[in-house]
This record gives sequence, C-alpha cells and structure tokens, in this order.
Amino acid sequence: MNEPFLLSNLIDLQEIDNEIYKIESQKGESEDVVLLKDLETKFKESNKDLEVAKNNLSEYFTQLEKDELDTKNIKQKNENIGIKLNDKSLDPNEIINYTKQKESGEQQLSKIKKNIEFLQRENSEELNEIKKYEDVIDDLKKQLFEVSKKVQEEWKSLDVRLAESESKKKEMLLSFPDDAQKLYDDLKARGAEVIAAYKLENNQCGCCGVDLTSSEMDKITSSKYQQCPYCDGVVV
Ligand SMILES: [Zn+2]
Repeated sequence: MNEPFLLSNLIDLQEIDNEIYKIESQKGESEDVVLLKDLETKFKESNKDLEVAKNNLSEYFTQLEKDELDTKNIKQKNENIGIKLNDKSLDPNEIINYTKQKESGEQQLSKIKKNIEFLQRENSEELNEIKKYEDVIDDLKKQLFEVSKKVQEEWKSLDVRLAESESKKKEMLLSFPDDAQKLYDDLKARGAEVIAAYKLENNQCGCCGVDLTSSEMDKITSSKYQQCPYCDGVVV
C-alpha cells in the first residue's frame, strides 16, 4: 500500500518549487549575466548602426565591387598576354598588337585605381565611421566570448542543483495520487504563486495572506483540498 496522501506533501513540493525559483533567479541575476545581457544589447545596436552606415554608402560599395571585379579581370587578361608575349615564334605585328593590348590594360588599371582612391577620399568620413563600428563590434565579440565563458562556469554548479531539485520534484509529483497531481498542474497553469502553505495565525491564508472568516475557514477545512476561495492555494 502507498502511504496516505497528506496535504502537507503539497507544502513540501512548494518548498522544492521555491528552491527551483531561487536557483533560476540566481542564474538570471548574477553580475556577469547582467553584463552579458548588456553586451548582447550593445552588440545588436552596433550591428544595426553598421548596417545603416553601410546602406548609406551602398552606391560606393556597388562601385567598389565593380572596380574590384574589373581589376581582377584586366589583371588576368594581362597575365595571359604576358604568357603569349613570351612565345618566341610571334611575328613583329603580333608582338606590337599584344604589347598595345597590355599597355591599354595597364592604363585601365591605373584609372580604376585612381577612381577607387578618389571614392575613398570622397567618402572617408563615412568609411571611418564604418571602421569604428567594426572595431567596436570586434571588441564586443571578444568581451561576449569571455563573459559567456564565465557565465557558463557559474551556471555549472547552479545547474547541478537545479537538476537535483527538478528530479526530486518529479519523483514527489509521481508519488502523488492522480487528482493531487492534477490539482498541482491546474494551479501552476493558472499562475498560482504559492500552491500550498500552512494557515497563519488569526485565520489568514498562508498562500495569499487574506483574512478568512470562520465560516470560510470551516468551508475550507471541510473540503477535500482545503483551497482558499481567494487564491485557490491549499491551506493546511
Ligand atoms: Zn489565499
């Protein structure tokens, strides 16, 4: 036979819940966790700033991309011409022709290079701003890494305690009769903060602190789960 179910078992369960709540609060409130959240916010903001700054220079970046692609293509072409010019069997006309092509390519390259330098000068203020955001983001990344390592370390022992309490709670709940389990689940689902507590002096509900009249108290004690009419908590 199972042991009889006592309403005070619900109070024991409530104590485990309090412990779980305490550990979870500790996890969420340590100095490093607060710092981590702060860093995450700053990281997001800096990324947004960077994106806006980059969007403002979208024309510049499109042009830069095109210039870089052109540069790559012309360099490749000139390399190929260089290989052809090494061919000893070329006739003079071919040599002149390839040499001209190569020179023209080099002129284009120098023009593109000058254009890029011009654009960089034109947009130097905005580009410096972008660089600044990128530096800030790099620095934030390093800090985030360091602090999250510390938080993980801190949480290790708390998580062990949390797992212990969770399994104790699970075990206890499983030992309850079905209707007591259901009562607990319902109260939790409804957001009851204290599911069970001893009656306080002067007929106060131990869960919500409301003064209960003696007729309310009689009603409570005569019902199966002795629930307070105001907070639904079990008054033991
Ligand atoms: Zn109450």
